[in-house]
Amino acid sequence: MQDLLLSEQIVAVLVPVYVDQSYSYRVPEHMVPSGGLRPGMLVRVPLGPRSVLGVVWDDDAQFKDASRLKDIEAIFDDFCLSDDLRKFVDWIASYTLAQRGMVLRMILRGEEALQPDKPVKAIRLVGDVPNRLTKARSQILSVMENGLARSKKEVMEEAGVSSAAIDGLIKAGTLGYCELPPPALFEEPIADFAPPTLSDSQQEAANEINACFEAGGFQGMLLDGVTGSGKTEVYFEALARCLEKGQQALILVPEIALTNAFLDRFTVRFGARPAEWHSDLSQKQKNRVWREVAKGKARVVVGARSALMLPFRDLGLIVVDEEHDGAFKQEDRVIYNARDMAVVRGHLSGFPVILASATPSVETRNNANTGRYKHIKLTSRYGGFAMPDIRLVDMRSDSPEKGRWLAPSLVNAVNETLEAGEQSLLFLNRRGYAPLTLCRSCGHRFQCPSCSTWLVEHRFRKLLMCHHCGHSEPVPPSCPSCGAEDNLVACGPGVERVAEEVAERWPDRRVVILSSDLIHGVAQLRAELEAIAKGEADIVIGTQLVAKGHNFPAMTLVGVIDADLGLAHGDLRAGEKVFQMLAQVTGRAGRMGGKGRGLLQTHASDHPVIQCLSKGDWEGFYTYELEQRQRAQMPPFGRLAALIISGEDREAALMYGRELVRHVPQGSAVRVLGPAEAPLAVLRGRYRFRLLVWAERSFGISSFLRHWLGQCPTPRGSVRLQVDVDPVSF
Ligand code: ADP
Ligand code: ZN
Repeated sequence: MQDLLLSEQIVAVLVPVYVDQSYSYRVPEHMVPSGGLRPGMLVRVPLGPRSVLGVVWDDDAQFKDASRLKDIEAIFDDFCLSDDLRKFVDWIASYTLAQRGMVLRMILRGEEALQPDKPVKAIRLVGDVPNRLTKARSQILSVMENGLARSKKEVMEEAGVSSAAIDGLIKAGTLGYCELPPPALFEEPIADFAPPTLSDSQQEAANEINACFEAGGFQGMLLDGVTGSGKTEVYFEALARCLEKGQQALILVPEIALTNAFLDRFTVRFGARPAEWHSDLSQKQKNRVWREVAKGKARVVVGARSALMLPFRDLGLIVVDEEHDGAFKQEDRVIYNARDMAVVRGHLSGFPVILASATPSVETRNNANTGRYKHIKLTSRYGGFAMPDIRLVDMRSDSPEKGRWLAPSLVNAVNETLEAGEQSLLFLNRRGYAPLTLCRSCGHRFQCPSCSTWLVEHRFRKLLMCHHCGHSEPVPPSCPSCGAEDNLVACGPGVERVAEEVAERWPDRRVVILSSDLIHGVAQLRAELEAIAKGEADIVIGTQLVAKGHNFPAMTLVGVIDADLGLAHGDLRAGEKVFQMLAQVTGRAGRMGGKGRGLLQTHASDHPVIQCLSKGDWEGFYTYELEQRQRAQMPPFGRLAALIISGEDREAALMYGRELVRHVPQGSAVRVLGPAEAPLAVLRGRYRFRLLVWAERSFGISSFLRHWLGQCPTPRGSVRLQVDVDPVSF
């Protein structure tokens, strides 16, 4: 391959734009690096009027007349995407039907990311000390006494002097400028820095994982342990094995679980902080992590789903924590599930992948049941703490007073918890004040101008908001339809309304509300979570933000305001999602001792999901759910893809959907349903229709889709087609 590239001096380059194919470029002889030009190397190439960063790909370059090709502008031979990573790009594109260029775009950053950090400008002692010293000058000198170089800002702060005072000493020749190498960015985690003493069951689990490492190669593992069973310490052992082998490791977490508490635990265990990767980093911070990961110097990355696309030099392990979480699915541009793609990446590169969860996805559980994944179980909580005692509050008999949302038995339970000096969590997975606002006089409902949804009142911010497109408007003083004043009524509860009731019932208690609207950025969320963990709140009211992975030592009561929320959705995964969310949120109770309790307010106490939850019968839930899926031949027993057709013109979108159906190849083994209105029939001003494609489990649905869609006309005008293979919600 190398010789071929050299002799012909034409290479194929994949560029991060909306194309599937690579382009051919000429390589000027003088540019070829001494070791040769290899696939994977980063290059800058002209593309239309611009220059972009691209990657030499081992596609066959088209051997056109070389004189008509454009030249590569620069080669960055320090940076080379591994063969595995390039295969991964090809694989994702072929599976999701995305353009390869768009997949590459998830990996590459701008050229700034390739530049090393600049040396730091600093000052140090260089010459004689003047005879007469002002107070400011002697303060500066005492700070500089030990001869070490310091940044000017540091000296100003420590000596309490102005910049001008320092300049004076520089002019006098006493101090001079110097350059310091940039500080090391990521210290190396140490495999045996502070290993904990594992419980017997943890040790057993760790042994199974270690055996996989010794065997080498790919192995999918489900680390299936109840909430508080100590899964983290177990997969930390796997991390230690990976570090011992000199390889890099990646821990994927749902964005929000990236807490300080987790990072601290890692630091205590391995003696160094891992590199972090999430949406709240600045571009500069991201560039650094990217560069250090590519060089192999950032050994462990803890990150949200996009961390899977980092250019690891030598990746040896991926852990997907809370693998069931919906946050791993990316729903725009390249539509993929980072959990599934993590397994693919392990497969292509030949390393183990650990999926950890207390409430595994039905797909993953099935893979464990059938032996595709190793099933590693932790069945009790670490430290012998009991699982929470779950009880149902039947809202038909034990109902709240009018205009209230907490049933009498839940109010009692909160009172008891307060008296014991412990924490309560009231959970409602609904942002805002009320899900629906209407005019009492004329019945007018507030609808989003560009989506088929109702606007949600956010009373703290005095806004009506659309949770789908972000549209917001002030709450009007009078009804826009009939003009009646002060006659709007809120229907149903959101977290803000529960907070209102809590403030009325327990005015002297410390209450924290955790909802994404009220939290600005990761830093604030981390601070709030830490405060709760320290016991600086008596009652926590929250949406799913609090349901995930946290350890709140004083929390012993979890009250779920509406356990049925979501059960009635037509969605195939409705039951699974409700089960996971409620098992997780009640799992916050009594993790560190105390008698944990969960109270579920429900109108559907007979529903199998609610029944399994109340009995703590998680096996029962999986058995029930898998039976349902098998009967319907739904995933994981059949395969699905969703085709979303959208357009500004409703009729045009619908017509295109019908046209696709007419082109389904004769005699094909799939069933195509629709076009029907998509669950959100209008979103951001676009009408949406959906085709569902069903196939048997072993059927290659991606290649079928490519073949089929390849024969269809491309959409015209504003009409767009989005392909979602293995949709999460439908
Ligand atoms: P989960 O399985 O829910 O992820 P964690 O890993 O968060 O559980 O563990 C629950 C709690 O038990 C944490 O506070 C953790 O520090 C503690 N813990 C788990 N294993 C050990 C151990 N071997 N030694 C000391 N503490 C442990
Ligand atoms: Zn909207």
